[in-house]
Amino acid sequence: MMPRYQIRPEAKGLGMTSQRARDRMVERLRNEGGIADEAVLTAMRTVPRHLFLDEALASRAYEDTALPIGNGQTISQPWVVARMTEALVEHGLPDRVLEVGTGSGYQASVLATLGLETYSVERIEELLRVARRRFRHQGLNVRTRHDDGRAGWPEYAPFGGILVTAGAAAMEPALLEQLAEGGTLVAPVGGPNGQRLLRIRRLDGQLVQEDLGGVVFVPLLPGTL
Ligand code: SAH
Repeated sequence: MMPRYQIRPEAKGLGMTSQRARDRMVERLRNEGGIADEAVLTAMRTVPRHLFLDEALASRAYEDTALPIGNGQTISQPWVVARMTEALVEHGLPDRVLEVGTGSGYQASVLATLGLETYSVERIEELLRVARRRFRHQGLNVRTRHDDGRAGWPEYAPFGGILVTAGAAAMEPALLEQLAEGGTLVAPVGGPNGQRLLRIRRLDGQLVQEDLGGVVFVPLLPGTL
């Protein structure tokens, strides 16, 4: 049986799923997007984003845009993934990272490719099943859990890094509790009038917050599907 996300020969022929397309995307992230961390750029150059999309959208994988992944969810635009990852590792590589919102699995794959021990929680089982298959096929070691990620993943806490890829009106206290000393959490927070990308670090027991700018994410929702 062919994996569902195998790319069509036509898409390959267009050259839109090739290493060259990915190289061009990385040059745009660097030159227009202001992404400067070489390790992050290398990870973005390595992870085949087209394999995290349905075949019909694979040819658009290296445009800098969010795209639908089913169940009303989206894969984040490459610049947002690069920016969040850069913000997460700017003050040193965390040992262990928790992602809330596995979605397509793309962001988790970027984290794992950076060499981070990656844990990812997703509330929609159908998305998680497909993402797990992608991790397996690409030989990536991402630990996953089907659950409401607002509770974090207490068994593996504390985490040196926490990345939330869905927006809530306020920061989840459980996630802050699972942030290690010296650790960094990056999350979109805000209401219907727009979300801000926040970075919160735990320094000497104190939480220090920075606003990294306006963003648009799908909502962080309660419960599981
Ligand atoms: N990081 C993903 C982005 C997916 S969009 C990627 O790289 O593709 C955000 C994801 O968060 C969606 O899949 C959505 O189902 C999930 N999500 C929303 N609320 C959640 C919650 N409480 N716990 C876990 N996942 C959640």
